[in-house]
Amino acid sequence: MELLITLILILGLIWLIVRQSRIGRSADVNESTGELEMNKEAGNISSPLVYRGENLDFSEEVLRKVLIKHFPYFSRLVHPDQDKFISRLRKFIRAKIFVIHDVKGYREMPILLSAAAIQLTFGLSKYMMPHFTIIQIYPQEFIGMEPMRILIGNVSGNTINIAWKQFLEGYKNKYDRNNLGLHEMAHALYYQNFEAEENRDSVFQDSFHHFTSLGDKVFEREKLLLVGLYSNYAMKNFQEFWAESIEIFFQSPDKLNEQYPDLYKLLCDLLSQDPLNYPNHNYPV
Ligand SMILES: [Zn+2]
Repeated sequence: MELLITLILILGLIWLIVRQSRIGRSADVNESTGELEMNKEAGNISSPLVYRGENLDFSEEVLRKVLIKHFPYFSRLVHPDQDKFISRLRKFIRAKIFVIHDVKGYREMPILLSAAAIQLTFGLSKYMMPHFTIIQIYPQEFIGMEPMRILIGNVSGNTINIAWKQFLEGYKNKYDRNNLGLHEMAHALYYQNFEAEENRDSVFQDSFHHFTSLGDKVFEREKLLLVGLYSNYAMKNFQEFWAESIEIFFQSPDKLNEQYPDLYKLLCDLLSQDPLNYPNHNYPV
C-alpha cells in the first residue's frame, strides 16, 4: 500500500515537472467567458499558463464585476474604500506573476487571489508583500516537495501556492470558518515581515508581538479544550494558529469576539480593521 502511494506521488511529480517545463507569456481576456487567452506568441504553448500581472490589464469595470460576484468583503465596503480596494488590487496584480497549472485560465484567478491579499492587508500601509513575486494556482490538491505531500496551499520561497477549488469554497461558505486564501496570505504576511530579508514592516512587527503573547495563552487553552473554536490543524504549531486566527477573524468575527474578546481586539489593532464594527470604527481605512 505504501509502495503504491509512493508510486502515485512519483508519477504525479513527473507529470507536474513536465507541465512546469512549458511556459507561456501574456494574455487577453475573452469578455464573454472571462477566459484568459494566450497571445499569439504563446498560443501553442500549453499548461502551465504563465501571466505577468503587468500584461493583465483589467479594466475597473471587470474588477468590480468579478469582486461583486465572488468577493463579499468588497461588496460590504463603503464607496471610498471600494475605490481604495480597486487601486491596491491593480497595483498588486501588476507586480506579480501568475502561474496557472491548468489548460485554461480565468480572469477570476489572478483577481480573486490578489483580492484575498488586499483584504488581509487593507488597513496596513505596506500591502504589496514584495517578497512574493509568484502566485501559483492549481485546479485542486497538488503535490508539495520537501517533504513530498499532498497540499491545498502553502507558501514556499518566493511563491504562494493555492488550490483554486478550495480557494473558491472559502469565499462561498461565508459562515464557515475556513478560508484557504486568507490562510495562505496570513502565512505570506508573516513571512514577509519576519523571514524575508527586505521590506519588513516594523509597525506590523511591533504589533505582532502583542498578538504572540496573548495568542500563546489562547493557543495553550485551545489545546486543552475538546471542542474549541480552532481546528485540530491549528493546534499543530503557532504558525497554523496564526493563519487560522485570521480565517476566524474575517469569517466569524462574532464568534472570536465572543470567546476571546482580547484576541479579537488585538487582531483589530494589528490589521487596523474591525469587521464587527465596520465602517464605524476608529481605524484609518
Ligand atoms: Zn497553514
